Amino acid sequence: MEQAAGSTQLLLNVNALKGQASKTAYLGAIIAFASIIIATLLVSYFATGSITLSGIVEAQRTNFGLWILDALPLVFTFWGQYAGSIIAYQAGAMILDQTNELRNKTASLEKQAIYSSTHDPLTDFPNRSLFYDRVEQAILSANNQGKTLSVLLFEIENYKEIYGTLGRNNSDLILKQVASRLQGAVKNYDNIARLEGGTFSLLINDEQENVIHVSNNIQESMQAAFIVERQQVAVHTCTGIVKFPDHGEDVDTLVQRAGIALYIARNSKEGSAVYDPSFDEHSPHRLTLMSELRHAINRNEFTLFYQAKVSLKTNSIYGVEALIRWVHPKHGLVSPDEFIPMAERTRTIQQVTRWVLRQAFEDCAKWHQEGLDIKVSVNLSTKDFHDPELPDFIGGIQAATQIKPEWILLEITEGSIMTDPEQAMEMIQRLHGMGYEFSIDDYGTGYSSLAYLKKLPLAELKIDRSFVQDITHSLNDAVIVNATINLAQNLGLQIVAEGVEDEEIMAQLKDYGCDIAQGFYINKPQPVEEFNTWLKESQWHT
Ligand code: C2E
Ligand code: MG
Ligand code: MG
Repeated sequence: MEQAAGSTQLLLNVNALKGQASKTAYLGAIIAFASIIIATLLVSYFATGSITLSGIVEAQRTNFGLWILDALPLVFTFWGQYAGSIIAYQAGAMILDQTNELRNKTASLEKQAIYSSTHDPLTDFPNRSLFYDRVEQAILSANNQGKTLSVLLFEIENYKEIYGTLGRNNSDLILKQVASRLQGAVKNYDNIARLEGGTFSLLINDEQENVIHVSNNIQESMQAAFIVERQQVAVHTCTGIVKFPDHGEDVDTLVQRAGIALYIARNSKEGSAVYDPSFDEHSPHRLTLMSELRHAINRNEFTLFYQAKVSLKTNSIYGVEALIRWVHPKHGLVSPDEFIPMAERTRTIQQVTRWVLRQAFEDCAKWHQEGLDIKVSVNLSTKDFHDPELPDFIGGIQAATQIKPEWILLEITEGSIMTDPEQAMEMIQRLHGMGYEFSIDDYGTGYSSLAYLKKLPLAELKIDRSFVQDITHSLNDAVIVNATINLAQNLGLQIVAEGVEDEEIMAQLKDYGCDIAQGFYINKPQPVEEFNTWLKESQWHT
């Protein structure tokens, strides 16, 4: 159609140009005629002395040059017409070419504009609006065919932190790597979208793929550290899942509920959650908790519990771990697993850590004043590495409480080091320079190698309780725990087994040569007065 209209327009243009050329040619012919008449009259005048008809005929008959001149108008007219036609056609073709080029350019610009309004320029994935459209379409067809589908929200939990510490360019590089790993982990990667920042979404056709399987694959694909500028960066991820039609019948409800599932997933150990209506009650509760957390310190609602660490070599108390509790006026004891991640997402964690350190230092000072040689372990959070004033604060309470740095052990996790190894290393070196020692908590749940950890000034390694709890039933876990004990000791580290729940586990750990045990079998975390009473009555001496 467009082509036909173009050709008609070309014909019209060519005719108009031809008309113009013809006019010029006719004008040339008229001038040529006028020149012939003037030349003939002049020749007649100079030959006969007058301008008469016989003189003109005579001039024409005897002058060969005039004959040539007579032929000129004809030649000019023909030549003008011919050249005019050629030029007009050439000009027309040029116009058509340029019009086509412009038309193609406009079409591709239009396409580009549509593409960039529906895609994320960084990852090339569909953006939120295209994703919503696709989910809507998918709901319609699933409805018609009586099929089910799932929406999965995937979030880089520490994206803000990565952005804050590595800057925009490097965090963009990480996002691109995350996008590639997502494509690798998901079969049908046309259905992945980037909603915002570090949040991606997936539309999964349940007939083709099992959503839990997809979610596991994604989580697994993100486990290896990311590399930017030769730095290793750990990315913590979580996924929230909803199903159509069980959890909602329109895209807004589905995405909102996937958000609630994501919220629950963030605070869960597994890092993923399938939406459940009971979450609705839970999430406002958590949201209120989050706002109340900020006032908990001023309202004096935190308390420290202590759990013993006993030496398997000397059967004596080696030290204690300080574990925070929030005594909520309405909900009672709130577990740190519930509120520490909340505090980490806000700036409250700095105040929480400082509160714990002050309390633990004061209790430690009291024990030592009473002649009890107890080493107090305090947990530091990932966010504490971003608090440059922390070493000074610690120096301050150390002076105020008169404790010695060697009475304290600071517990850090592999994950917290890997999030920003440089910053972590700087803080660790500063505190180490002040005389503090470090312990790696939950060892085995992260992805760092012992060889890497050995670069840090570590004193202790705590094997995560998920490995310890099953050593009497699982040969695999027993082998892992035994090998870790040997390896750590060869590297000159003291080794602690967490989660010792019964006598059998304790005996087996002794057999393996483990240095220290901690767990419910020895004591459950308890408030300081209770702990002191237990200590006096227990079989363990200091
Ligand atoms: P964690 O540092 O690995 O602490 C050990 C956790 O294991 C404690 O949980 C303890 O009660 C529990 N546990 C000890 N022995 C056993 C056992 O035999 N069986 C079982 N099932 N569990 C045992 P808790 O007190 O709920 O603390 C959970 C986590 O919260 C801690 O894990 C630590 O990561 C964090 N946390 C606790 N206090 C603080 C704190 O003051 N600051 C920071 N940043 N994190 C803290
Ligand atoms: Mg700990
Ligand atoms: Mg632990």
